[in-house]
Amino acid sequence: MVHISLLGIPNDDNSSFTRGPAEAPALIRRELHSDAYSSWSETGVDIGAQGLLVDHGDIRFDGAADAWELIEQHVAQALDAGHPLISLGGDHAITHPIMRAVRRRHRRLTILHIDAHPDIYHAYQGNPRSHTSPFARIMEEQLADRLIQVGLRTINDHHREQFQRFGVEVIEAGRYADSLKLKIDTPVYLSVDIDALDPAYAPGVSHREPGGLSVRQVIDLIQRIDQPIVAADIVEYNPRRDVSELTATVAAKLLKEIAGMMVKTATPAA
Ligand code: MN
Ligand code: MN
Repeated sequence: MVHISLLGIPNDDNSSFTRGPAEAPALIRRELHSDAYSSWSETGVDIGAQGLLVDHGDIRFDGAADAWELIEQHVAQALDAGHPLISLGGDHAITHPIMRAVRRRHRRLTILHIDAHPDIYHAYQGNPRSHTSPFARIMEEQLADRLIQVGLRTINDHHREQFQRFGVEVIEAGRYADSLKLKIDTPVYLSVDIDALDPAYAPGVSHREPGGLSVRQVIDLIQRIDQPIVAADIVEYNPRRDVSELTATVAAKLLKEIAGMMVKTATPAA
């Protein structure tokens, strides 16, 4: 049986506008385990099956240790279990230290990044760790071979320069087609920023950006991945901006579908 590791990373220290995503992991878990919903994913995998999810709990940030070192250590420990890993943010800044740990295990890796924003500022408000900058750090450190960004709708001139510099492949929200099938020939890291979705589906985010993807479109895109999904994050859910736990339910649904695809695409242990 393939197991899926789960790790909560409740950190929003590097959010630029408002706080709240640190409160997300507990609420996503509550929806995930709620008796109100089926535990089966559309992939035919029952995420509630005994022992399928191995929950490593939440990282405790006590302020003494550097948050980036803590995240990298805990992700490495969770990966040591040998299962695909889903991390629950937190804001998007956490993807940088996550990738440092993931990259050590995967010398061939494509990041599929689904977001309203490129998050590739060289720095923002003087903070190189800003949640608007993780993919600049990731590409500088060559933590992936390819970066594919889908759903963007806030691109400025600086972002375009960064795309050129790092060879980023971009599919803007306005260019998204339901037939989109990405050609990927390496293992995949999936980074899902909840604000990629239209705020009509997911109002619980710090930066609502209308004109986004539907839940169905994001799930379909994920279901068309035909390479192993070795790790993923779900970030930027902000419970303080949510309406009737709607966005928590969406995050839990995406978690189930990602986990199902991880099981389906996993290469059997040799
Ligand atoms: Mn975003
Ligand atoms: Mn983001």
